[in-house]
Amino acid sequence: MCFTSPEGLRALLVAEAELGERIMRALILRRVALIEHGGGGPILIGCGSEPGMLGLQGFLRRNGHPHTALDAKTDQDAISLLERITATRDDFPLVVCPDGSILRNPDHGQLASCLGLLPEFDATHIYDLAVVGAGPAGLASAVYAASEGLSVTVFDCRAPGGQAGASARIENYLGFPTGISGEALAGRAFVQAQKFGAHIAIPLEVKALHCAENPMLLELARIA
Ligand SMILES: Cc1cc2nc3c(=O)[nH]c(=O)nc-3n(C[C@H](O)[C@H](O)[C@H](O)COP(=O)(O)OP(=O)(O)OC[C@H]3O[C@@H](n4cnc5c(N)ncnc54)[C@H](O)[C@@H]3O)c2cc1C
Repeated sequence: MCFTSPEGLRALLVAEAELGERIMRALILRRVALIEHGGGGPILIGCGSEPGMLGLQGFLRRNGHPHTALDAKTDQDAISLLERITATRDDFPLVVCPDGSILRNPDHGQLASCLGLLPEFDATHIYDLAVVGAGPAGLASAVYAASEGLSVTVFDCRAPGGQAGASARIENYLGFPTGISGEALAGRAFVQAQKFGAHIAIPLEVKALHCAENPMLLELARIA
């Protein structure tokens, strides 16, 4: 088993339950700390009140992705970066991705692609199950199917968690006697589905299901 690739690490997490639990716990705690204290992830540079900036921040927040937002006019780090690159008014918000690339006024899909949130799809691969919507129902389907060894893909046009993602506290979900926030529930289910190898693509909207084709086809639309 090769542990240096994402697939190898996922196989290890499933095969070695005790070790897998520790690694998963460490990764989740690391992500939570990055979100709470800032740091890690992309750096957004713009004006805090502009719709484009608010839109990108909202997208990253809904998707539980750590990021840092810097004001282009007042933050010294942002100002010194802007002195080194050519940027016009239309380029804002600017996003510096963890791989060093710079996106100029990207839409949500472009940002997600740069962050690796949209998997590369092999056009010749036929999935056993394609789930449209990463709400509680979709993520549960993905976890059960992928854990049984089926090849699974999940699409959502917005964020994992669906309506439940907006709930401050869910009291009636099986297994959580003290309640759990919708965001935490969605985050756990998302990671669980990924652990079993589901290919999750967000944001991608499904435009149509072509049932007459064999195999059936989903028609996708990249959204802003
Ligand atoms: C504020 C709030 C609090 C709630 N609290 C509770 C509670 O305490 N207890 C309880 O039992 N229920 C609660 N609910 C209801 C619960 O959240 C829903 O019943 C549950 O989310 C339904 O899950 P679902 O997966 O079927 O659909 P949804 O949660 O609606 O998820 C559907 C997903 O599909 C995606 N989608 C839709 N169309 C497409 C498309 N064409 N392409 C790609 N993606 C698409 C959407 O973006 C969405 O993420 C609450 C709801 C809200 C809004």
